[in-house]
Amino acid sequence: MHTPLMPIPGHTDPVPVPRDVTPREDGRIDLIGLPKKRIVELFGEAGLDPKAAKLRAKQVFHWLYHRGVTDFEAMTDIAKTMRPWLAERFVIDRPEIVEAQVSTDGTRKWLLRTADKHDFEMVFIPDADRGTLCVSSQVGCTLNCRFCHTGTMRLVRNLTPGEIVGQVMLARDSLGEWPKGAGNMAGLDFDDDDEEAASAYTPDGRLLTNIVMMGMGEPLYNFDNVRDALKLVMDGDGLALSKRRITLSTSGVVPMMARAGEEIGVNLAVSLHAVTKDVRDEIVPINRKYGIEELLQACADYPGASNARRITFEYVMLKDKNDSDDDARELVRLIKQYKLPAKVNLIPFNPWDGAVYECSSPERIKRFAEIVFDAGISAPVRTPRGRDIDAACGQLKTAAEKKSRAELDRLAEEKQAALG
Ligand code: SAH
Ligand code: SF4
Repeated sequence: MHTPLMPIPGHTDPVPVPRDVTPREDGRIDLIGLPKKRIVELFGEAGLDPKAAKLRAKQVFHWLYHRGVTDFEAMTDIAKTMRPWLAERFVIDRPEIVEAQVSTDGTRKWLLRTADKHDFEMVFIPDADRGTLCVSSQVGCTLNCRFCHTGTMRLVRNLTPGEIVGQVMLARDSLGEWPKGAGNMAGLDFDDDDEEAASAYTPDGRLLTNIVMMGMGEPLYNFDNVRDALKLVMDGDGLALSKRRITLSTSGVVPMMARAGEEIGVNLAVSLHAVTKDVRDEIVPINRKYGIEELLQACADYPGASNARRITFEYVMLKDKNDSDDDARELVRLIKQYKLPAKVNLIPFNPWDGAVYECSSPERIKRFAEIVFDAGISAPVRTPRGRDIDAACGQLKTAAEKKSRAELDRLAEEKQAALG
């Protein structure tokens, strides 16, 4: 079959264009994922005068992202007659939950489905002082990192901004984290300076505090959608998460890194995983296009990186592949050569059926960490989380594919019933 190609800036091979999203059969437009300006336009095109369109868009935006409502009827400060008018033309969608699991260690994992029936994953990892949501950017991945299970799937399509921000909203739904306030609107029914009214909106002790773009897919190969989604996540009138609490992880799409810094401005994580050309070519094949030197130079140039906002280098520990003392020393040397404000995350390899690698021994990982740490670079070893529920990249999807269709449908129905 002929696959259309999309040009990527720089000297890279084109990547297959993601399949287009199938439009809804009823012709209604999903508001989730649209910038506020676009909502104003759509309300205008649907017949509201410019002033009304602007006001309604502001109200609706607030209900969508600040209050998390999924039904126009719940928008109590919008006239009763206006609500069906909205519902005829627009929808408030969320990805469908196919399966939700909770690990004995509190890690949660969801298998989600797009409206056109493609499955992808989302993971929530609670810690003592934070809760991190691991968000997917694509269904599958065009890159084939050899230790990554997602890499064995073909790219089905890019996720839309709505499907990306929808994951965060779904997590807030599941964690019960939308403000419960009286239903009035910020900036409309009360003054933003009115602390008493505003405090009714601000729940303390949120569970979901951080977001990492480390689910399925390569976020920088779906740049526009990831950027637009993260803008909604960061919007003060939207989900209002600080850019300091968001991390984008890339396998090293060098030509997009500067734009990521300039146009998104979140923390950067780089899946380095190896310090020699041979090994990185093998395990992270994008290295054949953008080598280690180019990648580290792009890190050195990343806007906003500083000692206060360090770049995270992810390093998966693979037995006898990338885990020697020499590798650790070379890692230190490279970080120093490029004067990178860096920390290193050592990730024990999470094995999957058919993987050609094994995880390094705990002693080896400890020694590797010591060498990096003794050179003055923070090098925590990431504790594996949610192993009992296959919470590693790409694994839930495969586990679910082994289940029968009927069983999945039954699970989905139960889920709907529980939600409804
Ligand atoms: N495509 C992006 C983001 C998604 S992968 C990237 O590659 O950075 C998120 C992280 O999980 C990456 O660092 C990836 O290398 C790591 N990872 C993937 N499969 C893994 C496995 N089986 N064990 C441990 N880490 C894995
Ligand atoms: Fe894709 Fe990242 Fe997995 Fe590589 S590690 S195959 S880039 S998801």
